[in-house]
Amino acid sequence: MAQPAYVIDQLISAKAIAARIEALAGDIETAFAGTDKLIVVGLLRGSFVFIADLVRELDLPVEVDFLEASSYGDGTESTREVRIMKDLRGKIEGRDVLVVEDIVDTGHTLTHVIGLLRSRQPRRLETIALLDKPSRREVDIKATWTGFEIPDAFVVGYGIDYAQRNRNLPYIGTVRFLDEA
Ligand code: 5GP
Repeated sequence: MAQPAYVIDQLISAKAIAARIEALAGDIETAFAGTDKLIVVGLLRGSFVFIADLVRELDLPVEVDFLEASSYGDGTESTREVRIMKDLRGKIEGRDVLVVEDIVDTGHTLTHVIGLLRSRQPRRLETIALLDKPSRREVDIKATWTGFEIPDAFVVGYGIDYAQRNRNLPYIGTVRFLDEA
């Protein structure tokens, strides 16, 4: 089926994202000061740009790993059922771990991932989400650090897609369907 026509309105500029990441990296460095190794776990695929920029701001010994949880598929509605499509390559038992998520929406994905990773007994596990939509929450969860709180809108850009498109936009924008305008 053809995708409906839409336009993207900028919500958060590339410059604002970069400034926020610099500040967040400072907070993370303080929280994990003295770590022998921080395992930074990116949730694929939406966090790949965020994690790339974040780790380059972190003045800590880091290792990067990825986990893929099921997402929206090609639509714009969450399915609520979370499945692990790709697991970590490395072990996290006894390690310091930072989970990097693109968006906390209903909260089901992050809740599921945290439960799974905690069962592997890391020494410390914290979470960071670039975006948070608190008005959409169905599970009581909040990331340790949040980049920006945003309203209930479908966003793309900076690694985040709509039907696999628009991940390469350097900013975050909201999708506006033209037949809704
Ligand atoms: P949750 O389980 O918290 O409802 O959903 C988290 C996941 O849903 C995010 O990691 C992201 O993949 C997807 N998601 C939530 N809101 C949006 C959005 O506005 N745009 C896109 N493309 N994905 C979203």
